[in-house]
Amino acid sequence: MRILLADDDPVDRAILTRWLERWGYQVTAASDGEEALAMLAADPSIRICVVDWVMPKIDGVEVCRHIRRQHQEPYVYTILLTGKTQKEDVVRGIEAGADDYIIKPCNPLELEVRLRAGRRVIDLQQDLILSREALRQKAMRDPLTGLLNRAALFEHLEKELTRAQRTGGSLCAVMIDVDFFKHINDEHGHLTGDSVLRDLAGRLESVLRTYDAVGRFGGEEFLMILANCDSAYGQAVAERLRGHLAAQRVRVDGRELAVTASFGVAATENRRHFDAETLIRAADAALYRAKAAGRDRVCVARSADWLAPPPSSRVAPHA
Ligand code: GH3
Ligand code: MG
Ligand code: MG
Repeated sequence: MRILLADDDPVDRAILTRWLERWGYQVTAASDGEEALAMLAADPSIRICVVDWVMPKIDGVEVCRHIRRQHQEPYVYTILLTGKTQKEDVVRGIEAGADDYIIKPCNPLELEVRLRAGRRVIDLQQDLILSREALRQKAMRDPLTGLLNRAALFEHLEKELTRAQRTGGSLCAVMIDVDFFKHINDEHGHLTGDSVLRDLAGRLESVLRTYDAVGRFGGEEFLMILANCDSAYGQAVAERLRGHLAAQRVRVDGRELAVTASFGVAATENRRHFDAETLIRAADAALYRAKAAGRDRVCVARSADWLAPPPSSRVAPHA
C-alpha cells in the first residue's frame, strides 16, 4: 500500500520514511502541504496520508480539509502529526477531516498500530465498494439469461442515441422474438423453454461487437442495439443470426429442437429527431410484419413503421 508522507523537516521525513518502508509500505514523500496535494492528485494509488501539522504554504489541517473535499471515493485515510497537545487543537484537526492524530515526537510502535487501524478502514470501504458494484451489476441483468434487462437496455439506448445525435452516426435496433415459443413450452415444458432462451441469449451475445449491446426485452423477446450501424448492416446481422438459428438446432437435455425467430430492424439513419421509444416502436412494427409474413424472417422498418401505434394494441396473426 502506498503512503503519502508530508513533513517539512528533512530529518523527521527520513526517519519516518525508513520506518514506513520497513513495515512494507511504499512511500511518496513531500516537503510541504502544496507538494503533498499535488502528489496525491497525481497518484490515485495513495490511500493513506501521514501529514505534519505545521508546514509551509499549506499546513496539515488544510491538507486534511482538502482531502475530505476532493477524495470521497476511494477513501483516503489521514493521520495528522502534531506537536500540539491542547485538546482544542486536536479537535480542530479531526474536524478538518483527519481520521487520527499522533503527538510528536512520534513513537514507531504507536504509528505502526494506528496505520494498521487505517488499513482496516480502507479495506472495509473497498469491500463495500465492491459489493455495491456487484449489486449494481446484478440489478442490470436478467437473471435467466445474464443479458441486460429492460431497464438497462433503455439506459444504454438513451446514451447511444445521444452519442449518435452528437456524432451524426446511425444507431440500429434489432427486435427479436422467438417464433411459436408457447408451443415449445407446451410441448417440452417450461424448463426446456428456459434453456432455449439461454441458448438464444448466448448466440446473440456471440455476434456482438464490443460497443454493441443485447438484452432481454421481455419474455421471449430480445433487443440488440448496434452502434454506428445503418439498417442495411443491421439487416445483415439479423439475417446471419436468423440463418444460424434456423440451421443449428438448439440442444437441450439430449434433444434437438428446431427453433426459429423473427427480426425487426430499425435504424436512425439520418433522421434528426428520434427518441428511444420511437426507435423501438419502429423495430417492433417491422417485427410484427415479419411475424405476419410467416415468421423466421427479417423485416426492416419502412416509413409507415415509424408512425406505428404502441405495440400493445397489436397482435400478430398466427400463420
Ligand atoms: P409468436 O410466434 O407469435 O411470437 O408466438 P409465441 O408463442 O412465441 O408468442 P406468445 O406471445 O403467444 O407466447 C410467448 C410465450 O413465452 C408465452 C410465455 O409463457 C412464454 N414465456 C415468457 N417468458 C418466459 C420464460 O422466462 N420462460 C419460458 N419458458 N417461457 C416464457
Ligand atoms: Mg414469440
Ligand atoms: Mg413475444
